[in-house]
Amino acid sequence: MIEITWRYDAASDYQESEPATPAEAVSLLDEGNSEFASLGSASGADRHLVIPVTAADLGIGGAEGEAPSQEPFVALLGCADARVPPELLFMQSANDAFVVRVAGNVLGAECVGSLDYAITHLRSLRLLTVMGHTGCGAVAAAVDSYLRPIVYLGLSSELPLRAVVDAIMAAVRGADVALRRSHGDEVVARAGYRLALIDTAVVLNAAVAADAIRTMFDTRLGADLDIVFGVYDLVSRRVGLPIDSESRWTPGLARAPHGDEFLEFVRDVATSAHVTRLLDLEPSDAH
Ligand SMILES: [Zn+2]
Repeated sequence: MIEITWRYDAASDYQESEPATPAEAVSLLDEGNSEFASLGSASGADRHLVIPVTAADLGIGGAEGEAPSQEPFVALLGCADARVPPELLFMQSANDAFVVRVAGNVLGAECVGSLDYAITHLRSLRLLTVMGHTGCGAVAAAVDSYLRPIVYLGLSSELPLRAVVDAIMAAVRGADVALRRSHGDEVVARAGYRLALIDTAVVLNAAVAADAIRTMFDTRLGADLDIVFGVYDLVSRRVGLPIDSESRWTPGLARAPHGDEFLEFVRDVATSAHVTRLLDLEPSDAH
């Protein structure tokens, strides 16, 4: 049995210690995700994880008629996909995360406005995070529209859906260029090309959003607030990046590339063990 419990214990003297710096916030999330991912490592074994919660975070015990104050340490832009619940996969509790979820974690005006609200009003905030995930359906829709223009033509009058697909298209184009540069134009004929394009675009889409947020809120970032990004791998349950040619997934939230760094970054993704496996290539086959 696997059991994950949010526990408020009135007899306990548990005091939640919020991260004081962005680096502490990253460590807290990385450690939480590592613990969550470990749940599947011993199949059949009983696991019981407890996430302590304070009364205040549950809205209990305040003065009559008084609402708890909102005190998250992280604001996260993530995908609406039901398999990717941020608080659970980072092992966090109520009032820890200000979560903005939308298909494909696209950076629409409402999302930027929500993050702007959090940055402006929530003094407890130490970290902004963008989180994509492998096998994202929204990114897959953008990839299919890119690979088969007739599909995109069918979406031409579907403006709400196009708002999602169009926002991801630049990442798909960038991923296509990176895969061709790393593996040659003939890579498009490989059976695994579509899946490789989806996951390469997933990573690039999250990186581009994180870089865009950093540019938008540049003057408000510093020692007390930073931005990172990562991709949740549905198979290993780790938040990290496919950037290593040896190991499938490098765990941990990371700083987004900027400017010229994007070229090297997307090349690392295109030649990573994860993407080359999807292409059914050996990493050494990369050009
Ligand atoms: Zn998704």
